[in-house]
Formats: sequence, structure tokens, C-alpha cells
Amino acid sequence: MSTEVLAASATDVQQASASAPAQSATAEKVNLLGMSRPQMEKFFEDLGEKKFRAGQVMKWIHQFFVTDFAEMTNISGKLREKLEKICEIKAPEVVHKNYSKDGTRKWVFRVGDGEGSLVETVLIPAEDKTGSRKTLCISSQVGCALDCSFCSTGKQGFQRDLTQAEIIGQLWMANYSYMEDVPVIERERSVTNVVMMGMGEPLLNYDAVLNAMRIMLDDFAYGMSKRRVTLSSSGVVPKIDQLAQDIDVALAISLHATNNELRDELVPINKKYPLEQLIAACQRYIGKDGNESARKHVTIEYVMLDGVNDHPEHAQQMIKLLKNLPSKINLIPFNPFPHAPYGRSSRNRIISFQKTLSDAGFVCTIRQTRGDDIDAACGQLVGQVADRTRRAEQWKKKVAAQNEIIRSQG
Ligand code: SAH
Ligand code: SF4
Repeated sequence: MSTEVLAASATDVQQASASAPAQSATAEKVNLLGMSRPQMEKFFEDLGEKKFRAGQVMKWIHQFFVTDFAEMTNISGKLREKLEKICEIKAPEVVHKNYSKDGTRKWVFRVGDGEGSLVETVLIPAEDKTGSRKTLCISSQVGCALDCSFCSTGKQGFQRDLTQAEIIGQLWMANYSYMEDVPVIERERSVTNVVMMGMGEPLLNYDAVLNAMRIMLDDFAYGMSKRRVTLSSSGVVPKIDQLAQDIDVALAISLHATNNELRDELVPINKKYPLEQLIAACQRYIGKDGNESARKHVTIEYVMLDGVNDHPEHAQQMIKLLKNLPSKINLIPFNPFPHAPYGRSSRNRIISFQKTLSDAGFVCTIRQTRGDDIDAACGQLVGQVADRTRRAEQWKKKVAAQNEIIRSQG
């Protein structure tokens, strides 16, 4: 765990809040941050304005990271005044941020009113043959209802869906963090890839996630390549089919077990949509559109749990299961959390599992666990910040009680 970070002091918190766009008290204002282009075009038309204004405003927000309408110089003063009165551009509040020496960045956001809830976002840089990447792992819900047995988000239960603004706000903030001090005109987006692999099940917050991904792909906003936006799901089968109709992005599936008996235990949604249905849905998702599509293969995520799903027979079952599905397999060493009922498979075990799959012709990688030093696994940083907040609250109560005693004595 990086020492730089985790002593999230009050100053951290204040600095983080100061770098966020102003948090206005006018809750009734319409937040433009989360609107997709069709939604914003409709909004402008309803205001009696030309719909091309939507594209202009979106560029200011998502390409120049401007939150003050006064800075939107290609928009008339009159319209700017009107927008100022009824709209705002507001990212979720950052309560903790952590920039590690290896380039990994993490944020904890407070979403909702009052004390709200906490969600996390992680940015992981990487170099590969295509150049340097910055991959942002975005959350879609506070907690998760699906309760996978190895997942700390699942253990928190489901609290609520994130709004479109809260989802796209994570990408906005990650990009903005590289250019707070850069003049508006020179600002460029830094995040190259997005994976919907943070907290929550994105397909159970379908509309908000879909619209947020549309903003990611939109040339008037982030203009990301469809192959660089990946949605990860534990297997909500009907929604996989709907996704195939609505947008062209890459799909990752959290498989984690190769037979229904074990998957029922690890990923309980398997009881509703068992493996045969899931694999068939993945096959349907794979494009008829060939090379033009982001859907040339499905990424299969497989968390390696010591003695549970890492036997040679599981590798053999996986070979059979995936034989007719173009896929790339990503083995994820389990990231332990307090009271987790599992351990991480040994390095040797993971390597021999990989070898079996590679020998059978699969592309199979092992996820780097570098993020460990700052708890990169889903849901874990939030746990820490929540603990710290709780400790701070307990401390405040203790001080207040002592003050009360002193007052009553004196
Ligand atoms: N709900 C979605 C996306 C969020 S989880 C899904 O399940 O796909 C993102 C990935 O992290 C999933 O593959 C999930 O199984 C994995 N994951 C969750 N807890 C983990 C842990 N403790 N160690 C390693 N991977 C974990
Ligand atoms: Fe939810 Fe994904 Fe965690 Fe399962 S692994 S509990 S679906 S966030």
C-alpha cells in the first residue's frame, strides 16, 4: 500500500474539493454534464434554441473541461446568461484522491445529497505495442445487488444506481486531473480506455450506463474508439442482447467458474441465467459486422481463487465451454479483503492454468496486480475511506462528550 496516499488528510479532502467544479447549492438547476447529444439537443430545442448549440456546449464541457458558461466564447452572451440561470455543469464531489508514483490514480466520490454514498474510480496506466494507455475503471452503482461471494462491492449490498452525470463525471474528473493548470485552449483528453469494471453491475443500471457510453464515443465529447470502451457484466443475459442492439462496445464477462454448480455459488445470478444461456448470449453479441465492430471477441474474466476454481479440470472445462466463442481470457489473481472467505491462487497454479489454455489455442493473459499497493480491486478503497470517516466521526463524538463533561463540571 502506498504511503503517499493513504493518510488521506483533511487537506487532501479540501484540495480535492477545491479542484472540483463549484458545488452549487442550487439543486434545482439542470446538470448538463450527464446529457448525451440527443438529450442535450432536445433540451436546447425545448428552450427555443438551435439544436447545434448542444454540440458546442458538449465540446466545452468534455473537450475543454470548462464548467463556467462565461468561458464558452462561441455562444452569445444572452444564451450564456440564460444557461447560467437554469443549468450547471457539476461533477460528483471528490472526497479522496490518491496519485501513486507508478501513475495509478484513484478517486473516491461522494454521490447524492447530504452525507451521500461513496464510489470509487481507478486509473491505471500501461505501455504496450500500441503505445501508452490510460485505462479508467468506472463505477456504475453504489454497491451491488448480485452478491458474488468473492467481491467486496457485493458484500456492501445495493444502495442505488449512479446517475448519468455521476458516471460520465468520473471520466470527466480523471481527464481534468491532468489539466487543471493547463490553459483551456491547450487542454487534451488523457484517458484512452474505459472499462465499466468498478462498483456495481452496469447492465442493471442500463439506461444511464448506455447514455454515458454514448457520450464516451461521441466525437463532440470524448470521441473514444468503440474498441476502447468495455462493459463488464456478470451475465444479465437479456440485457446483453439489448446492448447488442443499442451500441457497439467491447464486452467482458465475469465467468469465474466453468460449471453451473460452482458458478451458482460464486456468481449467484448464474441460478437465473446459467452458463449455457450466458455463452449463447455472448455468441449472439459477437458481431455479424466483422472487423468493423468492437465485437470481434468477448473478454472472459476469471478470478483465481485458491483451491476453488483453479484446478486443472477447471481449465479443461473452460476449453470445452469456450470452444465456439471467440474469446480472450484474463486470469485475475484474487484480491483479498477483510473477512474474505477465499485466498489467492499461487503464482505457479495461475501460470499452469494459463499454459493449459494457451496450449489449447486461447489468448490468455494474467492481470498485473500492481494496483494492490493502493487497493485497486473493486469496492476496496471505498471500504477504507468509509472506515476512516467512521473513525473521524467517533473521534468527534468523543471530543464533544469530553467537552460536555468539562462544561458540566466547570
Ligand atoms: N459487475 C460487473 C463489473 C464490476 S466487477 C462484473 O461483475 O463484471 C469488475 C471485475 O472485478 C469482475 O470481473 C469481478 O468479478 C472482479 N472482482 C470483484 N472482486 C474481486 C476481487 N476481490 N479480486 C479480484 N477480482 C475481483
Ligand atoms: Fe456485483 Fe460484479 Fe461484484 Fe458480482 S463481481 S457483486 S456483479 S460488482
